[in-house]
Amino acid sequence: MSVDDLRKRYETAFMPNYGVPPLALARGEGCRVWDADGREYLDLIAGIAVSSLGHGHPALVEAVSAQVASIAHTSNLFVQEPEVLLAERLRALLDGDGRVFLTNSGTEANECALKLAIKHGKANGRSRFVATENGFHGRSMGALSLTGKASIREPFGPYGLDVAFVPYGDADALRAAVDEDCAAVFLEPTQGEAGVVPPPDGYFAEARRICDAAGALFVADEIQSAIGRTGAWFAFQHENARPDILTLAKGLGGGMPIGACVAFGRHGDIFAKGDHGSTFGGNPVSAAAALAVLDTIEKDGLLAHVTAVGETLAGGLAAIGHPLLAGVRGRGLWRAAVLTGPHAAAVEAAARDAGFLINAVQPDALRIAPPLVLTAAQAESFTRAFPSILDAAAARPLIYV
Ligand SMILES: *Cc1c(COP(=O)(O)O)cnc(C)c1O
Repeated sequence: MSVDDLRKRYETAFMPNYGVPPLALARGEGCRVWDADGREYLDLIAGIAVSSLGHGHPALVEAVSAQVASIAHTSNLFVQEPEVLLAERLRALLDGDGRVFLTNSGTEANECALKLAIKHGKANGRSRFVATENGFHGRSMGALSLTGKASIREPFGPYGLDVAFVPYGDADALRAAVDEDCAAVFLEPTQGEAGVVPPPDGYFAEARRICDAAGALFVADEIQSAIGRTGAWFAFQHENARPDILTLAKGLGGGMPIGACVAFGRHGDIFAKGDHGSTFGGNPVSAAAALAVLDTIEKDGLLAHVTAVGETLAGGLAAIGHPLLAGVRGRGLWRAAVLTGPHAAAVEAAARDAGFLINAVQPDALRIAPPLVLTAAQAESFTRAFPSILDAAAARPLIYV
């Protein structure tokens, strides 16, 4: 089926919540993907920071194929080896501490964190939550109640949770909001969906201290930032500020659906038997995929690679002088090209025409979150093409997203 056929049939068969995506992808290899008409693109978005090893990586193919042939599902009625190895592996990356709950998605990892925080709060007479304006934690009713973007939260409220939203990056505002009634603070180390917005240096560590001083749980939503995306296993390591509860997903499975909630120290024992569960969570195929991702990042030295190629990418973008381009922000292979106006949809479309997949994450910001295996030469092929992409976008009518 052609791109056009698939888009037409999609429009009829699916709910309109995503709109109709502009392309249908058929296959991928490394950092390259091909659409259903056979056109090739450099994939600089990786399915929203997910396909960490690129497409068709032999380690992932081998791990998933072997596991699905062996046993694809057991449910939590039975233990299986991949989930045990994965939980142990995550603990090893986290100084041997932490107890793990495996999920199918980021939202579910945050639901687990929220239930832990609610239970802990009830036991300690605390019922309020603090999150950040423009923060994103997922689309379920729990995660959505913590999501700071009013346009996606408010149509589905009211919620049963008392949440105060504070401006992101403002430590004073956070300190003022976190009192002895606060059960937990939910925080992204850098806001992803808001447009890869890093806070001022030291903010995350200060948030850790604020929570300690008030006795509130500190929950780090690292669903987008962890597993090498910023050049560290976990973004909290840049500020040496370990949370009480950590949530992961996106890049962990390299494209297979898996998330994790890790609770440290005594918080690992908040749930009692029967308090939480998931039929598919931690299924052996996704767990085997995650193990292959972690092994490959380690074996191929991808953390240092991400730091180096991320500098190449950001340096290349920063060197471009163009009236549409205001600058670049982010860390590692997690960047935003910031525009001088609401041209992101036009730039995304012009980039696609030029053979590059990037994401108009905000009206004035393009997210670049490629596979962690992106080469410096591939990054440069994009930064070389970007000025003419911006020219082409400037010639298009404004599209507001
Ligand atoms: C993507 C994301 C989520 C939601 O994850 P899903 O897998 O879409 O449920 C939550 N928090 C952050 C920071 C994210 O980037």
